[in-house]
Amino acid sequence: MKALVHGGKKNVAWVDVPDPEPGPGEEILDVLVAGVCGTDLGAVRSGRPPIAAGMVLGHEFVGRRRRDGALVTANPILSCGQCRACREGRPHLCQRREVLGVHRPGAFAQSIVVPANNIRTTGDLALAKAAMVEPIATALHAWRLSPMPKTNVAILGAGPIGMSLLHVLKAFAIEDITVTDIAVERQALASACGADQVSAKASSVYEVVIDTVGAVETRRDAVECVRAGGTAVLVGLHSPNLSVAGGMVVAGEKTIRGSFAYTPDEFDEAIDLAATLDTRWLSSVPFDRSAEMFARMLAGSADPASVKVHFEIAT
Ligand SMILES: [Zn+2]
Ligand SMILES: [Zn+2]
Repeated sequence: MKALVHGGKKNVAWVDVPDPEPGPGEEILDVLVAGVCGTDLGAVRSGRPPIAAGMVLGHEFVGRRRRDGALVTANPILSCGQCRACREGRPHLCQRREVLGVHRPGAFAQSIVVPANNIRTTGDLALAKAAMVEPIATALHAWRLSPMPKTNVAILGAGPIGMSLLHVLKAFAIEDITVTDIAVERQALASACGADQVSAKASSVYEVVIDTVGAVETRRDAVECVRAGGTAVLVGLHSPNLSVAGGMVVAGEKTIRGSFAYTPDEFDEAIDLAATLDTRWLSSVPFDRSAEMFARMLAGSADPASVKVHFEIAT
């Protein structure tokens, strides 16, 4: 079958790989649509997270279960069920966590093998929306880690997680949402999808600031622009570093909170949230153009209005 794999030299390759064989407790799914995530780009661009050369990338997808033809997606996080994090109800923080498309072959392929327990049916959800369940779950989790704000919220970055967060906040009827992005095309999309204010950079004071970029600058902005006593939620992973003025954190009693992935319950909840997603910021390319599109995204030369790029693998 065809697959888009990590090339190992800051590149990807569209290659033939053997068909996967399901083991005990696993199902084989034929992938229909799969989305490119910052995780895929970060792994290839800078080795974060580290992914072996030859690994099939991709963890956001919708497919058809071969056994019965049902349309399904899957929670890509496989956890041990036994470590402390798992026992505490946080399997996404499992010490022996494995992620499809990172540690095991992923969804940029004509078929994928997934533990049956991780599979969720998506019913009559449109394919493009069903492929958005995973990023919406990531956004939902970041939102759940914020203290429920009564006033204003800022989302830094109108990328896939920022736009998913905007969708989640609108679904929870948050009334004063600012979205920042350096690209005017993305500011326009955020406005069209219901942001109350858009700008290139955060400049006011907010009750909650969620940084979906993860650059040193946006993390600093998140902490600087959150009110005294407020919470900055860090979900973006662009840079490995955090550099903020400690005095401001102490004297302002600010909370800095990391957010990673989602719980299984949040993944399930995201299936419902995906139904009402405004899809104008999604775009798609045929699978045989996936390597070329991925290279453009790596080079930063893709259309900024194509916030989320999907590969159409089959219909
Ligand atoms: Zn993702
Ligand atoms: Zn575990």
